[in-house]
Amino acid sequence: MRHPLIRAPAATYCNQGDYMEESHDIVIVGGGICGLATTLALHRKGIASLVLEKSETLRVDGGSIGVHVNGWRVLEQLGIAAELRETANLVTAFHDVWQEEEKSTLTPVRKELRWLKRKDLLETMAKNIPVGAIRLGCHITAIHPSDPGAVLTTPGGSIIRAKVLIGCDGSNSVVAKYLGMSPAKSATRTFLRGFTRYPHGHPFGDHFLRLRGKRFFVGRSPITDTLVSFFVACHIPSTGVTRHSVLQTLQGQQCPAEIVEMVQNSDSESLNVITRVWYRPPWQVAFASFQKGTVTVAGDAMHAMGSYIGQGGSAALEDALVLARSLARAAAGSGGGRADEPCEKMMIGAATTAIGEYIRERRLRVARLSLEAFVMGELLRAKSLATKLAFLAILALLGTKALS
Ligand SMILES: Cc1cc2nc3c(=O)[nH]c(=O)nc-3n(C[C@H](O)[C@H](O)[C@H](O)COP(=O)(O)OP(=O)(O)OC[C@H]3O[C@@H](n4cnc5c(N)ncnc54)[C@H](O)[C@@H]3O)c2cc1C
Repeated sequence: MRHPLIRAPAATYCNQGDYMEESHDIVIVGGGICGLATTLALHRKGIASLVLEKSETLRVDGGSIGVHVNGWRVLEQLGIAAELRETANLVTAFHDVWQEEEKSTLTPVRKELRWLKRKDLLETMAKNIPVGAIRLGCHITAIHPSDPGAVLTTPGGSIIRAKVLIGCDGSNSVVAKYLGMSPAKSATRTFLRGFTRYPHGHPFGDHFLRLRGKRFFVGRSPITDTLVSFFVACHIPSTGVTRHSVLQTLQGQQCPAEIVEMVQNSDSESLNVITRVWYRPPWQVAFASFQKGTVTVAGDAMHAMGSYIGQGGSAALEDALVLARSLARAAAGSGGGRADEPCEKMMIGAATTAIGEYIRERRLRVARLSLEAFVMGELLRAKSLATKLAFLAILALLGTKALS
């Protein structure tokens, strides 16, 4: 079931019926975490942009998102960290439990980590974005080259010309396709996630629990003193995943009562079933062409990496900041770029160079994160001890802290 969707206060709506033709300096396709962070980062630099989001409302489904210290650094720069910290407790340790082996460990988390409700993150970004900068219900179905930039079309045949185009449109990105990138890959993973409220306070402290049973894996994170978010992965055919079937599996596996109760008492509206996880293999991220003139990609469109290391969102925030900085430098260098000045002054050549710089700065970083996430995923799937040891060795070389 989907979480209720929100409408962005700053949003306008795509005119579905009538044919339109318009032109903009910077267009961002996709109003998820990356698209909103990019437009906000540009706005903070005094540069206007337009976000086109296909949904009729901002998509806040997906429950919570773990934001690591790198993500918090970006939120600081965007000027919204303080407000968001009010909504989520610090996670101070990973509590790993292996039920069958009767083993558990507690690993302190030394840097800032908090689980945010996606709704809080998206709404906080949206309310800091100028009115009219987000256009909802605007599905971009095709992109054609133009000089400069690109021409975008909607199902109604409307045409939007973009001098600079940034694809923040997720793992099945139409902009990535235009750039000639291979389609993202997907893996079947089934899990139920949601929120549970404890009106009188929960007893779990500030620890993130990772409980491994014989046929299930539970993750539980405190958000506030009265709210936790969770996911449960278990061997149930993807079409049959409901709260009831998950509870049956957990109860049949001697899962601790506190976990069963958490799922039992979860907020029905928040429950959400994931059946597929999208990712780009690290070699694709390392070698793909992320640029055609003044067109590029960011976030999952560039480096979808599933949920294995919980870095997709924070990496998307980093992309947004680096790209906005590069474009702002280009704007300053070419004498334009203020929201009230035409973008013609910002030489297209400078924007092309800026995008090249952005990609150079990001490639190694996101290829490494993609490798880490990929190896972690493979480790979870690996059956033989030798394979597991090989993957563990790679993760150790990469400095991955939370080995499974
Ligand atoms: C189960 C799960 C758990 C995760 N947990 C974490 C976590 O704990 N921490 C973390 O950092 N990351 C996590 N991630 C990854 C994280 O969710 C993503 O990396 C992040 O949401 C990427 O943001 P994005 O804006 O790039 O893409 P998306 O969130 O996919 O947003 C893309 C937006 O573009 C819109 N769009 C798509 N196509 C078009 C089009 N043609 N025209 C107009 N609009 C379009 C979509 O409607 C959407 O709103 C998790 C992922 C999964 C699957």
